[in-house]
Amino acid sequence: MTARDEQTPSPIRLADYRPPAWAVERIELEFDLGIDTSEVHSRLHLRRDPAQDAPLRLDGEGLELLAIALDGQPLDASGYCYRDNVLEIDRVADGSVLETRVRIRPAANTALEGLYLSGSRERGFLLTQCEAEGFRHITFFPDRPDVLTRYTVTLRADRERFPVLLAGGNPDGAGALPDGRHWARFVDPYPKPCYLFALVAGRLEKLERDYVTADGRHVALVIWAEPDVIECCHYAMDALERAMRWDERAYGRNFDLDVFHVVATHDFNMGAMENKGLNIFNAKYLLADPDTTTDDEYRAVEAVIGHEYFHNWSGNRVTCRDWFQLSLKEGLTVFREQQFSADMNSPSLKRIDDVALLRRAQFPEDAGPLAHPVRPSQYSEINNFYTATVYEKGSELVRMLAGRLGPEGFRRGMDLYFERNDGRAATLEDFLAALGLANGIDLAPYLAWYGQAGTPRLSGEGHYDAAARSYTLTLRQHTPPTPGQPDKQPLPIPVKLALFDPDGRMLPLHEGATEQVVVLDTQEQSFVFPGVERAPVPSLLRGFSAPVVLDYAYAPVELALLLTHDTDGFNRWEAAQQLAWRAYMEMRDGRGHEALTVWGDTLARLFDQATLDPALLADLLTPPSEVELAERETDVDPARIHALRQTLQRELASRVGAAALAERYRALTAQASDALDAASQAQRRLKRRVLELLVLLDAPTAQAFAAAQFDRAATMTDRLASLAVLVRSGAPQATEALARYRTRHADNALALDKWFAVQAQIPGEPALARVRALEADSKFTLKNPNRVQALLGTWARGNPSGFHRVDGEGYRFLAARLAELDALNPQVAARLATAFNGWQRLEPTRREQARAAVAGLAEQSLSRNLAEIVGNMLKG
Ligand SMILES: [Zn+2]
Repeated sequence: MTARDEQTPSPIRLADYRPPAWAVERIELEFDLGIDTSEVHSRLHLRRDPAQDAPLRLDGEGLELLAIALDGQPLDASGYCYRDNVLEIDRVADGSVLETRVRIRPAANTALEGLYLSGSRERGFLLTQCEAEGFRHITFFPDRPDVLTRYTVTLRADRERFPVLLAGGNPDGAGALPDGRHWARFVDPYPKPCYLFALVAGRLEKLERDYVTADGRHVALVIWAEPDVIECCHYAMDALERAMRWDERAYGRNFDLDVFHVVATHDFNMGAMENKGLNIFNAKYLLADPDTTTDDEYRAVEAVIGHEYFHNWSGNRVTCRDWFQLSLKEGLTVFREQQFSADMNSPSLKRIDDVALLRRAQFPEDAGPLAHPVRPSQYSEINNFYTATVYEKGSELVRMLAGRLGPEGFRRGMDLYFERNDGRAATLEDFLAALGLANGIDLAPYLAWYGQAGTPRLSGEGHYDAAARSYTLTLRQHTPPTPGQPDKQPLPIPVKLALFDPDGRMLPLHEGATEQVVVLDTQEQSFVFPGVERAPVPSLLRGFSAPVVLDYAYAPVELALLLTHDTDGFNRWEAAQQLAWRAYMEMRDGRGHEALTVWGDTLARLFDQATLDPALLADLLTPPSEVELAERETDVDPARIHALRQTLQRELASRVGAAALAERYRALTAQASDALDAASQAQRRLKRRVLELLVLLDAPTAQAFAAAQFDRAATMTDRLASLAVLVRSGAPQATEALARYRTRHADNALALDKWFAVQAQIPGEPALARVRALEADSKFTLKNPNRVQALLGTWARGNPSGFHRVDGEGYRFLAARLAELDALNPQVAARLATAFNGWQRLEPTRREQARAAVAGLAEQSLSRNLAEIVGNMLKG
């Protein structure tokens, strides 16, 4: 049922947007559910836009039309036209009711959009995924987010096989039917776009909790999962309650239905989906238990639970006018999610994680052939725009606005945004207008950030005038060209800064404050700070106040000063990153070791400092990733980058010293607990880092530590950390540990994903042979998106030295798998294909091999999803 277009269709452009000619006021949907075939009966109550005179056009893909009637009169074949995925009917009157009955095939749906089967035919359940354009695989409808409709949904199915029937909205009756079937009805009082429609039917167990909102509404919170994993949902339930309380406190937003359902599935293309009143989650972001879930994964569950819940206001009550505005809901909701996580955990560690992700995932996207603005101007396949740019960079743009307005001003602006746009399909202009209006500030200049692709580079220098006791900071900006955007404009860049004296004390700036935000909104600007007694060291872009690359010519000792004394945890880490990068460049170019010495010695000193948070120390001891290092190079040789980064870490380890590392490891092991509190998590994070450094200096000792840790680990965090050290360092104990892990977790899909992923991370040439061997494992399947991501995604997108083999075998292997996968699931294939991003910057031998593999793929018959990615890749 997957569309497999021979040519790429003409793109859809933002500039061509027109309001819908036809709206649907109400829809009554009835489902007769079955695994092989389901029938969908729909009644659309139509409204015509009086300003437009267009025939009724409804989207519908792969639908077998069984019956069609307009205002009660059946239409014969001359009364409508169903062609090229559009149902067109002339001469429809305003207020008409269109009825259709269609047949669809859930079990044959491997693309996992529309209605599909999760799990086996015998035990699995039916569910839907409609964002972005899945609803057209279910019934005929104007499948666009600016058509808001009231839904009444009736589900009918065999009671034995499908005891649980769920849809979005409030329950409105249920009962038995003859012949062993039953029914249930749901009414959603809030008009919504069809991408927020959802249903679930099957054998599921539940956890339930009563919740009373701040405005007094009683809500039943219900989490549903398959019987064997329902006990793994308690953590998510607690997180949901925390998220609801947080949104009431932070944004004054209350939940608005009588029931809130959350469902876990192992077969899902995305992380989770915010369908109104019926969130559906990839099990990876819902299930959690100490034996199989790492600390990072616990935090991810909490974050994603929050994210989908927060969408109820930023996405559902206020939705997007069109898919070009996707970041209106996603950038904003990622920002709200990040605030929530920061409040629940450590704000500086959260900021470090988020910026590291931005640099790993979004900066390369912004610098390669797939670069696009946060609000793209055109697309062929909208599913390809669920990107780090729309999500993560989109969140950074909201953060800049929030920083500009301050906490109270931002809250005032958000209140007005929700008030003015409730029940509407809005645009990014509406968002900026509300924030600006509530604060009497024109934020229109920030719109340029949404339309311009590429990561701006911020450079500058400081000048101290001892006679005048003044410090002048000159800042400059430049954004490199991206495909289709050769010339860039200056953007407003808020730079939060502080000045430190040579003893590491913060200097008073404006009105006694020690921090200040200056906004660079031209190409170059100077800022003068009077009354400065000694030449200061500037701490720039504190908290990463704008998503830019900072090039500031710090001396290594100045970075060491910030690394030691900065009061902004993020900027301490940033100073360590800068120093590590300088040290890397020195090694690469064979010119001295000034930065290396300063970096290593400063960290060695901090290593012994008892007051430093162990989690922050772990992050300070981690140099930029191989992907980030490659970002700053031309003629990229991933094998060389890997080797240099290993040497860099070995240098660091030797400056800290094998004895100190081993001693710290033993101390952390003696304190080990299986608790989930921040202190215990921080100890585990540092313990892992210490082990990773020690193995580079003294492999036998570190491997013996790791093997012992693997044996007695009380948490998945400790077990997986030790396994990763054994596997990646090629330890003699690795084979047995892998076998034991495999036996222990044989029936747990999420734990097995980690078993595949840890092996896909083996560095260098041996990785491919391991990936091939694992593909033959009985537990590997191309049909499960999580499994594909665990093995092929981890290898191709997260293991540069393993994927970019100089003989090109990695490229040819991935291209072959992509063609195979594309026939099953185009969305997952297109996402995996982004592993080729940046091939133009590889060194010549690899570049030619990669180009040939991508070009060979382009010659095949591909889905619209994969064709667009591959096409853009070759264009760039
Ligand atoms: Zn979202």
